[in-house]
Amino acid sequence: MTIRKFSRDELESEPHGVTFKDVYPWEAIPDTPFGASLAIIEPGGRTMLHGHDPAETFVICRGRGTMRIDDTTTEVGPGDVVYLTPRCTHDLRNDSATEELVFVSVFWDAPIGNRVTATPKLIIPSPPTPNGPLHLGHLSGPYLLADTLRRYYRARGIPATLLCLTDEHQSYVADRALHEGRPPAELAAQYSESIVDTFAKFHAKPDVVVHPTRDAAYRDAIQARFAQLHATGKLEARAANALYCEPCAMWLYDSFVVGGCPHCGERSYGFTCDACCSPVDPIELRDPRCDRCQGTPVARTATKLVLPLGAYAERLADHHRPLRLAPKLRRLAAEWLERPAMIAPASQLGSWGIPVGIAGFEGQIISPWFEVALAASYLRDLHVPGGDLVCCFGIDNAFLYL
Ligand SMILES: [Zn+2]
Ligand SMILES: [Zn+2]
Ligand SMILES: [Zn+2]
Repeated sequence: MTIRKFSRDELESEPHGVTFKDVYPWEAIPDTPFGASLAIIEPGGRTMLHGHDPAETFVICRGRGTMRIDDTTTEVGPGDVVYLTPRCTHDLRNDSATEELVFVSVFWDAPIGNRVTATPKLIIPSPPTPNGPLHLGHLSGPYLLADTLRRYYRARGIPATLLCLTDEHQSYVADRALHEGRPPAELAAQYSESIVDTFAKFHAKPDVVVHPTRDAAYRDAIQARFAQLHATGKLEARAANALYCEPCAMWLYDSFVVGGCPHCGERSYGFTCDACCSPVDPIELRDPRCDRCQGTPVARTATKLVLPLGAYAERLADHHRPLRLAPKLRRLAAEWLERPAMIAPASQLGSWGIPVGIAGFEGQIISPWFEVALAASYLRDLHVPGGDLVCCFGIDNAFLYL
């Protein structure tokens, strides 16, 4: 007899009052063709609204709740069995104020239709930062994926262009240049060439290479798109505390500042946390340090441009719904959309980058991350007008892409 027992303190926590335990796969039973978990929703709690490729079924064991599948909702209770088709969007709410809702979820791989269209593709892997050469770890991630996709599309007769944008305006480039006592543009040019050369040796030579520091048309186009966002009221000027290092006489953002992530506590730079992938406002870092002098920065008020994301939450959720996102990505996207004050920093107080070029924001550059977002749409319009943009990225950059 094979019986597995566990206690309540082995349950893992999810947001919104859900605890769960994965019960299959189970080491004692090899190769089960399905996965399963047992979940408990606290009174008033709910599962995250989500969707996935595997088909799934819920069996309600105890309690009552409301099941939402795409645009329909229905009440469920003990003994009810719910079937969830691949990719439907669903959540389960416990409406009771006092009783737990207990259910079992079983999920399995199910056939899904092939959704690749014949629309030409522009494939952009994560822009490599030219502050050093590429290593195998870089190549094995988004770049191998991008080249594989290019070969796949072409084998199917779908036009595909692989574009490499080197991320020359990153703070990491300015950091390394300062360390080596060279102008950042010189360092960026050297490593950009080395990176493109590495792609060629890897038999994954891009069809198009864009070097922002040597491409005036690119810089003009990014500035024009930024100005258009500002002129149409999409960007908001916000005065807020920001970190400033007095000995270094510079504002600290991105790789210029390091501290504890306000969400998970791990060591993080001032944009996104490598450990939990969350966007990080440098001012929220615990025990922040200037990465150059290791000094403690001071808080000063600065007015910068931001893109408030709250207004787009519904549209972003609609955009995410049909995507085939890994479960962790889908969970992160849903969590971020639930933060009402979420913003994307659009400008930074710094000198290495594309100047904002808007009166009142002198001495500010377009945030390098925001630049990449603007670049993706500009480069698509330029190289594959009307085509599909295919982005290959690591989960640590998910915030930028989602
Ligand atoms: Zn599900
Ligand atoms: Zn974190
Ligand atoms: Zn400093």
